[in-house]
Order: sequence, then structure tokens, then C-alpha cells
Amino acid sequence: MRQSSPEATAARAEPGTEHPEITYIGCARCGTQIAGLDGRYACSGCGWVNEWTEGHRPLPTAGRRRR
Ligand SMILES: [Zn+2]
Repeated sequence: MRQSSPEATAARAEPGTEHPEITYIGCARCGTQIAGLDGRYACSGCGWVNEWTEGHRPLPTAGRRRR
């Protein structure tokens, strides 16, 4: 067993903060598995990005436009 460093513990603890959830998906274009936050993905291999609207929650800053 190795000791856990205090730094790692401190970095993790964020009580009360809603941090983004890390999720994984296969790139729609090249199939590489990529990681994303809250359902938003950007492939570093081919540059594919998914629609931000596919994210798990709306972007906090942008106001909603009516169409
Ligand atoms: Zn890709």
C-alpha cells in the first residue's frame, strides 16, 4: 500500500461545487475514443466536435434565443 499524497486529496475535495462530469464517447467521424465534459466532445484526432446542445445541461452564460 502506498500513502495517498495530501495534494491529491485537496485537489479532489470541492464540496458544494457542481463540477462537470467526465464522459467518454467514440468519435462520430474517426471512431477514436475521446473524453468529454457534460456530454460535450471534441476529437483531437480529426477535429470533430459534437453539438453543444447534446450536452447534459445548457451553457450557463449564453441567453436563450427564440427561433
Ligand atoms: Zn475523430
